[in-house]
Amino acid sequence: MDKKREFETDAIRNQIERSGFGEHTSAMYVTSSFVFDDAEDMRASFAEEKEKNIYSRFSNPNNTEFVNKIVAMEGAESGYAFASGMSAIFSTFGALLSSGDHILSARSVFGSTHALFTRFFPKWGIETTYFNISEANDIESLIQPNTKILYAETPTNPGLEILDLEYLGHITKKHGILLVIDNCFATPYLQQPIQYGADLVVHSATKLIDGQGRVLGGVTVGRADLIREIYLFSRNTGPSLSPFNSWILSKSLETLAVRVDRHCENALAVAEFLEKHQRVSSVRYPFLKTHPQYAIAVKQMKKGGNIVAFEVKGGIEAGRNFLNRIKMCSLSANLGDTRTIVTHPASSTHSKLSVEERAVVGITDGLIRVSIGLENISDIVDDLSQALNY
Ligand SMILES: *Cc1c(COP(=O)(O)O)cnc(C)c1O
Repeated sequence: MDKKREFETDAIRNQIERSGFGEHTSAMYVTSSFVFDDAEDMRASFAEEKEKNIYSRFSNPNNTEFVNKIVAMEGAESGYAFASGMSAIFSTFGALLSSGDHILSARSVFGSTHALFTRFFPKWGIETTYFNISEANDIESLIQPNTKILYAETPTNPGLEILDLEYLGHITKKHGILLVIDNCFATPYLQQPIQYGADLVVHSATKLIDGQGRVLGGVTVGRADLIREIYLFSRNTGPSLSPFNSWILSKSLETLAVRVDRHCENALAVAEFLEKHQRVSSVRYPFLKTHPQYAIAVKQMKKGGNIVAFEVKGGIEAGRNFLNRIKMCSLSANLGDTRTIVTHPASSTHSKLSVEERAVVGITDGLIRVSIGLENISDIVDDLSQALNY
């Protein structure tokens, strides 16, 4: 039997059929609908007796190629592509939950996901309980009879806490609830949650999957029966990914492994540089031995990822001053770009939270989050260094 193809090869060689022109790179199918040979072909396609594209809200060849690659990379059965990470997350919950259901979630989740849980889902009778990562050992006591989904991100944003996927897989199986993991920070190259028992994995493809700060996208992959529900919900509600974006994202995946390798190499070098700096009181990076969950990180991740968080001495003002002295790196809300991006969560993304609320998710006043890019490492370190040496 042929050997199973490796990750990098799948990322490049998983392609949709060629059109009659013999193009080497997949063609872009910018079409809203597809045609049928006759009435019977149309009937059978709508009846799902044959696999045919009907309308791009349901499926499109470019979306299929992008999804097939992520399915292979994550070791999933099936998937569906969305216009953004948030539409993937919203549609996944929307398809699977009913009024009266309960979500158990890690407290450190992406801001808009937190808004879904606290501002919008209660309108439809869906409640959420948060657990702190430091108290993850107690999660079982928070599971209720109506708990349907355990949800988490690992590593978390921006605190870079690590949750033990094997443990989460174990307790969700034991209690018969679904495990849904937002794998955006790790990418399928560094971590495959399904291997540890996740039922579904969601991604914001906007981040490292695109990796070049161009397009929004999202994807959910996992168990075929669950993806079927998500597909039926989505083909009626309309959050589908544009074929133009899926063409771009599929091309991006061809270079995911080499890009993420360099991102991680640069990030580790930055973390080691910051650890020795006298104006820095602490550094967080999953693959630093000083990380509180280092052992779990090396167990479930291939490398440490591209995000480094550190605490500059002097609190909120020192954090703002650091940002103002940055010359080359970008001040921007995105992450996972070729360009290094610095943010100061306490005065921007998380400024609406109180000091106490920020503290429970690991955001201190002087915390700086750096999304390490692909510039030459010496230029990245030089910029951070000059901004610290005032
Ligand atoms: C950015 C992000 C999202 C949301 O993705 P969009 O593509 O911006 O909608 C969700 N989860 C995490 C961890 C993210 O970083």
